[in-house]
Amino acid sequence: MYYRIRHYVKSFSLWELLKGLNLTGHYLFAEKFTVRYPEEKAPQSPRFRGQHALRRYPDGEERCIACKLCEAVCPALAITIESGVREDGSRRTTRYDIDLVKCIFCGFCQEACPVDAIVESPIYEYFGNQRDDLLMTKERLLAVGETWQKKIDGNLAQDSKYR
Ligand code: SF4
Ligand code: SF4
Repeated sequence: MYYRIRHYVKSFSLWELLKGLNLTGHYLFAEKFTVRYPEEKAPQSPRFRGQHALRRYPDGEERCIACKLCEAVCPALAITIESGVREDGSRRTTRYDIDLVKCIFCGFCQEACPVDAIVESPIYEYFGNQRDDLLMTKERLLAVGETWQKKIDGNLAQDSKYR
């Protein structure tokens, strides 16, 4: 009987509706958790794993020595590497592709690289109209590394403090 009366009182006083409006009113004036993207951007960790990049040494030489550790460790089989020996006897990649359609952004490639050549950059705003647009070739990876060099170096330096 008690529960039935309670049910009727709640129904006629629109109790659930008032409860909902109270919650809405609370969040109307509370501090916002959301940002107005793309004008505003959320803070990003130095360990953020975005689009990949290949890095160079300060003298312009490619860091990658074509050891293929990243290719071996990649759980998504997203990396394809072919290598060759240059005239000076050093080994370098002749092909380095990352298929971002397959990639799960686990970061294993970056962790495995002995010379910090392949890294995941802070870039998350990219898209592709067709599959090839998301195939990162060696040239594209090096270009990302050059464009974002400062930011990537800063993130790696910050990250190393916590290791
Ligand atoms: S982030 Fe992970 S899945 Fe993507 S290429 Fe690197 S190892 Fe492969
Ligand atoms: S990116 Fe690093 S792990 Fe991958 S082949 Fe080059 S040197 Fe080896």
